[in-house]
Amino acid sequence: MGNGFWGQVLWVDLTAGQVRVEALPEPVYRRYLGGYGLGAAVLYERMPAGADPLGPENILGFLPGLLTGSGVPFSGRFMVVARSPLTGGWGDANCGGNFGPALRGAGYDGVFVTGVADRPVYLYIDGQQVELRDASDLWGLDAVQTEEAIRRATSPGVRVACIGPAGERLSLISGIVNDGGRIAARCGLGAVMGSKRLKAVAVRKSPQRPPLADPAAFQAAAASYRQLFRRRPSRLTSLTPAFLTRLLPVVRRLRVRLSSGPIQMVIDSFRRYGTAAGTTALVELGDTPVRNWSGIGFRDFPLARSEGLSDEAVIRHNVRPYGCHSCPVACGAIARLPDGGTGHKPEYETLTALGPLVMNDDLDVVMRCGQICNRAGLDTISVGVTIAFALEAAEKGWLPPDLAGELPLCWGDGEVLVKLVQRIAQRAPGLGDWLADGVRRAADRLGPEAQQAAMHAGGQELAMHRGLYEPGVALGYQVDPAPGRHTSTQSGIAELKSYAPYFAFRGVRPAGRYDYVAKGPTFGVVVPVLRAFDSLGLCLFALQMGDPPFLQWLNAATGWGFEEGEFFRAGWRIQALRHAFNAREGLPPHHELPARERGEPPQEVGPVAGVTLDAEAMTAGYFTALGLDPVTGRPLPETVAELELETILGIQ
Ligand code: SF4
Repeated sequence: MGNGFWGQVLWVDLTAGQVRVEALPEPVYRRYLGGYGLGAAVLYERMPAGADPLGPENILGFLPGLLTGSGVPFSGRFMVVARSPLTGGWGDANCGGNFGPALRGAGYDGVFVTGVADRPVYLYIDGQQVELRDASDLWGLDAVQTEEAIRRATSPGVRVACIGPAGERLSLISGIVNDGGRIAARCGLGAVMGSKRLKAVAVRKSPQRPPLADPAAFQAAAASYRQLFRRRPSRLTSLTPAFLTRLLPVVRRLRVRLSSGPIQMVIDSFRRYGTAAGTTALVELGDTPVRNWSGIGFRDFPLARSEGLSDEAVIRHNVRPYGCHSCPVACGAIARLPDGGTGHKPEYETLTALGPLVMNDDLDVVMRCGQICNRAGLDTISVGVTIAFALEAAEKGWLPPDLAGELPLCWGDGEVLVKLVQRIAQRAPGLGDWLADGVRRAADRLGPEAQQAAMHAGGQELAMHRGLYEPGVALGYQVDPAPGRHTSTQSGIAELKSYAPYFAFRGVRPAGRYDYVAKGPTFGVVVPVLRAFDSLGLCLFALQMGDPPFLQWLNAATGWGFEEGEFFRAGWRIQALRHAFNAREGLPPHHELPARERGEPPQEVGPVAGVTLDAEAMTAGYFTALGLDPVTGRPLPETVAELELETILGIQ
């Protein structure tokens, strides 16, 4: 055990039904931190190249970050890693809730699962007591039912990460659920869990935490940051939606970008609306994709329609606030659902993927679809993108006529939408089965002309922020080893205060919005910082709320005395290793975006009219900035030396 970490991980061999503890030395944590970083190091070293993503050799890791559960604000995240069956490459997903802190409290820095069980099982962890239990009775239950059943069988204090029926049926757009609907959604990792017949990981909560190097400094740094959240909400926040709506005609013309604002307003807005804040504005401004990326927000999904999905409309359904562990904001809420039950309120990505993207303006329909996804364990982004593709394919006559059965596929029909989501969740024969593996596979069945409407990068469905609005997000879609995700570059935002010392350290100035040549170097700074930050187990939104002193927290916890350079190098190392993983699998280092997302041809009207991305300049700059071979994605020799990657990469 070291200060700030346990120094041990669990290994579970499902084929043999065995569990063992492995001690890890401190240098591993110094180099890779926790979460994604520790996962990348372990998977690169231990997984054979070419492992079948749905086979016994794939390693599925559940990892809290190095500060997860430590009690500092926003420290509730855990990460899941594996080879992705959706992209064929590096797979990871990040999730809030309460499972991560419970795993941390159990005394492990991660759990790695190999093999395939001969019957459904779940892993039960209560400190030293770790066992595989029969889950035959749980197989077929949805995620909410599974959590409840495991709590009834064990203890009310047990925290559960599980798959629903979508993961059991190996849907490649399925994820892993905790807290009744918070999902580690991306990269199809629910299917990996399903392929192993692992229904759930259940952890009994414990107050124990790894020792801290300097508890007083740790508490002081956390307390001082917490002050930021003690102020009374500003009256301005509740005016924000109306204010923005009135200003929209002006901001459209000015090409204004909404990415951050005065800190107190951002905090208040997150508290009141969560990520739904400003949804209507983002549709109007061209950030939100509309009608499978072929529409223009203010023209094709105008305010009269998007207001039904507005932040104010969403919070009218709130029953109580919901926050992840140690969150001073609680951006979520438990809402009253159209069926009379309760569940998590829809976030921005769900609202838009099941809203403007498919031309639906009925919030009840979004909530019904979101709840089906949460219970089945489906990624709402991927579901929305895949359905939008199907609707366009039907409109253009690309779908075999009998595939949808009696369902009249057309844009914006709420009842059809709900049925489609149900069919995907059940992998129902016909269209449900076609769509359950995501948009790339659906398009591959239809031939070359359908490819233009399949909005993915490297097989993963693009998220709900457009590169034409903020090119930095498109860069992340293309180059990240887990492509298609807005979180890989924090939706393309580079101007946040927390990044400033790292720009200074690297001698780089953040790029202007459409300065394509400078985007690569800019995100050559942002991305390593983000990967290291992720690996601490902190919520990305914290970076939009002031300047969280994460380096102080890390040093007070571990006693390492890291300065910006070491922290940056840890994140750079993690990113380089994620790239090396894909290179070893023979995957290209970056992916061409669909023409619509590149702006080819450019939009003729609207806030992003005339914009065509210079993807080549951005990607070239990124690979140069990170010292990666642009052809293979492997770290260049000088990068290997700088990051001391020789041993793990097998380079003598
Ligand atoms: S801001 Fe939201 S997502 Fe982030 S930790 Fe808080 S509740 Fe969770």
